[in-house]
Amino acid sequence: MTIDVKPTPAAAPGALLDTPEIARIGVVGAGQMGNGIAHVCALAGLPVVLVDVKAEALERALGTIGRNMDRQINRKAISGADKQAALARIATAADYAACAECDMVVEAATEKEEVKRAIYKALTPHLKPSCMLASNTSSISITRLGASTDRPEKFIGMHFMNPVPVMKLVEVIRGIATDEPTFQATQALAQKLNKTTAVSEDFPAFIVNRILVPMINEAVYALYEGVGSIGAIDMAMRLGANHPMGPLELADFIGLDTCLSIMQVLYEGLSDSKYRPCPLLVKYVEAGWLGRKTGRGFYDYTQSPPRPTR
Ligand code: NAD
Repeated sequence: MTIDVKPTPAAAPGALLDTPEIARIGVVGAGQMGNGIAHVCALAGLPVVLVDVKAEALERALGTIGRNMDRQINRKAISGADKQAALARIATAADYAACAECDMVVEAATEKEEVKRAIYKALTPHLKPSCMLASNTSSISITRLGASTDRPEKFIGMHFMNPVPVMKLVEVIRGIATDEPTFQATQALAQKLNKTTAVSEDFPAFIVNRILVPMINEAVYALYEGVGSIGAIDMAMRLGANHPMGPLELADFIGLDTCLSIMQVLYEGLSDSKYRPCPLLVKYVEAGWLGRKTGRGFYDYTQSPPRPTR
């Protein structure tokens, strides 16, 4: 097994000769990640079609993109004209037919294998035969997802980090069938978006989440077993391990449903009991307390500052 972690190499002259050009991009799923992916693509000059089944998700995404670009303007990272030009490059749609002219579609929908498979089934008949398909999945097998499509050789994992406009890393994951031009085009796209890539083999949860999410799960166990309070656990890891955010704060930020799905994929995919999801994490998800996105997770976000829930 080789795990190749290195910055995106600078393209050698002629090296990308056979690399398919990406002139138009589709993003399916306009949630936390989809809006960020549309944001960075549009700012990099790419026309983007953002698709979601929920009209309100599309509306919310456009609002979020506008506000996040305002923050970049305040930091002088972009100009007002950059924002206007980028927003003008984003079209929204409720129908996959809007992706017909795309050269690459990045799927960033809910982390459920059956949801993703259903999307590919409905989406691919609308795509050009040359269109590549990337999944932003945090943990599901790229080989298996790719095999469920009509184009496993053009299927790849492109795992952006949250929040997409801020985080520098993209994990690139080749399925067993992914061809070299698709891999090169994905690397080139990441470079165009000013991201650095880490290449991961197709194992459950790849690199970042293989390490990060079991740590979060362990923090939930520490809470469950009464080792410390939410405040104590987060403070301990912020000041004791120099993490910019405590693990429970981070769990709320990622989404507790996403964290649970990743633990389930690790548990089932590696058949190792050390990855069993903490029952308290399961309970929070069952309660619909999914973190920031629902206003309550380990913290209550209706309070300012957010108040620990236990
Ligand atoms: P989210 O719940 O914020 O958004 C998911 C979106 O998908 C929703 O807007 C939903 O309406 C949409 N959707 C569901 N079914 C759809 C369909 N059939 N067609 C079109 N849209 C559909 O979730 P998220 O946090 O943005 O996660 C999306 C993906 O990104 C997941 O695969 C997740 O594992 C991955 N990811 C998440 C994070 C994170 O920190 N949240 C980080 C990296 C990767």
